Amino acid sequence: MNFEEFNLHPGILAGVRALGYTTPTPIQVQSIPPIMQGRDIIGLAQTGTGKTAAFVLPTLQRLLQLPRGRIGAVIISPTRELAEQTCEAIDDLGQKTGLRSIAIYGGVGMDQQIRRLRSGVEIAVACPGRLLDHIWKGTINLSNVEILVIDEADRMFDMGFLPDIKSILKCLMKPRQTLLFSATMPDDIRRLVQDTLHNPVTVQIGHSAPAATVSHALYPVKQHLKTALLIELLRRHETESVLVFTRTKYRAERIAQQLKKAGFRATSLHGNLTQGRRQAALDGFRAGSVKILVATDIAARGIDVLSISHVINYDIPESTDAYTHRIGRTGRVDKKGDALTFVTGADTALVKDIERILKTTIERRRLKGFNYEMSEPDIKSVHTTKKVFERRHIGTQTYNNRPAYEKSPAGLCLT
Ligand code: AMP
Repeated sequence: MNFEEFNLHPGILAGVRALGYTTPTPIQVQSIPPIMQGRDIIGLAQTGTGKTAAFVLPTLQRLLQLPRGRIGAVIISPTRELAEQTCEAIDDLGQKTGLRSIAIYGGVGMDQQIRRLRSGVEIAVACPGRLLDHIWKGTINLSNVEILVIDEADRMFDMGFLPDIKSILKCLMKPRQTLLFSATMPDDIRRLVQDTLHNPVTVQIGHSAPAATVSHALYPVKQHLKTALLIELLRRHETESVLVFTRTKYRAERIAQQLKKAGFRATSLHGNLTQGRRQAALDGFRAGSVKILVATDIAARGIDVLSISHVINYDIPESTDAYTHRIGRTGRVDKKGDALTFVTGADTALVKDIERILKTTIERRRLKGFNYEMSEPDIKSVHTTKKVFERRHIGTQTYNNRPAYEKSPAGLCLT
């Protein structure tokens, strides 16, 4: 199948060609035709499958038939990064359509968003909280919305956005077309679907298992040796862009600092950074000037960098769904990727769950020549001077002038 067969407007096809897409991905093949017929959709697809274009292309098609200068489509996103990226996809795919989009999220002033809304846009890509702020202030007009997309619904539920989404739904006119995308289908999302979608078509890609192009490996290691192992792995592996996941913001910051000191082009991405620093981190990663991004799960939502060759779970994710989401950052469309997970003795149950969804036993690896027997005091004494500097540096630069070690019980140890 090719994109011409969808009967998309020539202006939209020009955008598809400009991005170099030649063959639609399975989620696009299955969902674009029913969406173009006006059907509601439940898209069970993980990131990396091409789901954004699956809803953006038919949305653009519909909006071309509506009057300009008023919002005809709303896309709800869990994070500002994903909202920005979806807007970029709209700008790229819709570059020859003249349709305009806005990304709406908190953490930045409202005035600029209000000015852009007043100037006339057709698509709003919004995080739930800030969208509600605009609704309550009367600075956004949603009375002409005909298409609603709820993207990464399961993640929004995890982040506690469900009540906000329900409030937004009350402000939208009916009937409208609703498209809901989610990697998994927890009960609350199922209920939301029953209450919100009308006779939906379900499109399922990949049963929420990670992409087949990803190879998986576990590195059993003691907690205090993780940073040393990470540095050694990065030194020895040939990598393009690497995404390292940690469980806490503090740890993401600290590891990025340690990698920089070890000579890597690394930076961190987490919720304690200002919007400017988050954007700079993402831009650097996308442009390739930053090779290693150390991120928390939430901050990394929606990172869309095609050349991510390695996802390294410094800390094992808290659930199998989170594993799927993290790993979805690599092996995108038909690229190959490696998913390396550091595991300690405490992670046994989660490892079993992950192996169950992968339907295979994950290879256990040991890094040859790495000193797995180094004791905690040994490794600490090597880095003591550096740590003191790091704590001050992180404490003053990033955490509102509070020393970083106050924020973490792990502040005095290296891992
Ligand atoms: P998504 O799952 O929407 O985050 O998309 C993952 C990546 O695949 C993005 O970088 C898209 O630009 C890219 N992509 C989407 N559709 C196609 C396609 N048909 N051919 C090649 N790349 C695509």
